[in-house]
Amino acid sequence: MKSHQSVRKEFLNFFEKRGHKIVPSSSLIPTDPSVLFTSAGMQQFKSHFLGEKSPYGKRVASCQKCLRTSDIESVGDDTHLTFFEMLGNFSFGDYFKKETIRYALEFLTKECGLPEEKLWFTYFKGDNKIPEDVESLKALIESGIHRGKIIGCGRKDNFWGPTGVSGPCGPTVEIHYQLFDKPCSRKEKCIPSCKCGRFVEIWNLVFNEYYQDENKNLKPLRQKGVDTGMGLERLIAVVNNKENIFETELFLPIIEVINLQSKEDYTQHKPAFRIIADHIKASVFLISEGIVPGKTEREYVLRRLLRRCIRYAKMIEADSNLLISVAEKVIEIYSSVYPELSRSKDKIFTVIQNEEEKFLKTIDRGLKEFEKIVQREKKIIRGEKAFYLYETFGFPLELIEEIAREKGLEVDKEGFFLAQKKHQEISRTGSSRKFGGVGIDLIDDQKEKEKVVRLHTATHLLHQALRSVLGKEVKQMGSDINPERLRFDFSFPRKLTAEEIEKVEKIVNEQIKKGLVVIRKEMSLEKALNIGALAFFRERYPERVSVYIIGEKDDSVGKAFSKEVCAGPHVNNTSELGIFRIIKEESCGAGVRRIKAVLE
Ligand SMILES: [Zn+2]
Ligand SMILES: [Zn+2]
Repeated sequence: MKSHQSVRKEFLNFFEKRGHKIVPSSSLIPTDPSVLFTSAGMQQFKSHFLGEKSPYGKRVASCQKCLRTSDIESVGDDTHLTFFEMLGNFSFGDYFKKETIRYALEFLTKECGLPEEKLWFTYFKGDNKIPEDVESLKALIESGIHRGKIIGCGRKDNFWGPTGVSGPCGPTVEIHYQLFDKPCSRKEKCIPSCKCGRFVEIWNLVFNEYYQDENKNLKPLRQKGVDTGMGLERLIAVVNNKENIFETELFLPIIEVINLQSKEDYTQHKPAFRIIADHIKASVFLISEGIVPGKTEREYVLRRLLRRCIRYAKMIEADSNLLISVAEKVIEIYSSVYPELSRSKDKIFTVIQNEEEKFLKTIDRGLKEFEKIVQREKKIIRGEKAFYLYETFGFPLELIEEIAREKGLEVDKEGFFLAQKKHQEISRTGSSRKFGGVGIDLIDDQKEKEKVVRLHTATHLLHQALRSVLGKEVKQMGSDINPERLRFDFSFPRKLTAEEIEKVEKIVNEQIKKGLVVIRKEMSLEKALNIGALAFFRERYPERVSVYIIGEKDDSVGKAFSKEVCAGPHVNNTSELGIFRIIKEESCGAGVRRIKAVLE
């Protein structure tokens, strides 16, 4: 048995010995605002592939924690996961195909001890626009790989990118492991593309060598790059001769915990057990990075994961403490590699418990109501009904769809979103007179009104300053302003240090002193998010929003200090604010901090 710790270490050591700088895993929450989560090892190196100089040199390797939400519904089968780790080696204009293939073979056969005859390779065979990747083919043959185990494939299988309309792209080599020798009934057609389960893809080697422009013309890239990715879970399974990832020490101990604490048996309920194991693992990592369950974006993903677990735990008649026990096991498995998990143990438990308490209050009544709806609705659950389950009983839309599917029904999603929009419009008109918790029109005194407006602008500065000092995991969770003070709640896992508070104050006061102008711009929500405007309750916003931009007079929007989707009102110039002072910093629920501040 090879432990997961040793497999990670062997991989990184192998590449370190070959001149690679070992770079730690980046956060699951990427700096790139266009994606919700880090989903591949290359993400943190993206700019170096485009020629920006890498501070780590031209050869790096990493083991990256990743989260993919596209496969949530498929978790439960033998292969899909939301959270996984990806091993990868990268070259930014250094070595290319020959070395990459040699390293991969050497690592798999010498270091991991996999028999070479069980390895199969696919490469790009070329099409009418792009020539065959003869360089890779040659490298494979020269390494002694039997020609019959090298399969040429088309663009769909062995060509990567570009990710958008234009960008770097290139051919790939995929390495597959043959789990058993005997081909299926397709005989000689039983090659890695066969779906019979004989093969498992373990390593994808991407060779960036072209640049594709908007008109789909290819040009050779000036700086060629290598980007490889190998799923750690799969590698561990293969190295230890396990049938699938759930048989490895990254999952089996978790499944045992579930077995002990539920009435049902794993062999009868594999999907439920696997869903709970995977989703709680993903949740543990997300919470450790400061995410708490909520209504939008990452927060919503976490809520979806947790509420789905809560439902499955009910289905297998689990003990009330199951999810916490599973989380505890996850932390135990991973803490030697990710010590931050042990450090945020209490927070992780609290967040899971809070979410469980919340949903358990409504889930039974909700399921009963669901049953009634199913009786009445026949084939399709109408949008309003689905929204009712969502709004009143806290069922995430995807969970409603899943339960409906199990009962042979569909959900009218369009109708759901319509109902949601209608509901929001009603609640918006109800609150349009208010902002930051204060009905500004209700304040008679002009002086008081002005104070509130100044504090509101200060809130935007504070928000940005907090993000500058503490990082992007800071997210607004709430805000309340009265003429005396502002109150700002945000996600952050721990108490702020005195230095941090001082720094935040200083940044805000610097912006005030600079006399930054406050401009309001109207634009589509999409544009607002694209220019990096902070927006928290995305779903509640209309198509067109107003964005308040605080920056130097001639700043481009991109350079402005603060950008936030907001209905206002604000001062015209930050010099009107006075001196900003934080008077209190305290906890306000799990993973949420509260700051009170004044203008003097
Ligand atoms: Zn087959
Ligand atoms: Zn605002």
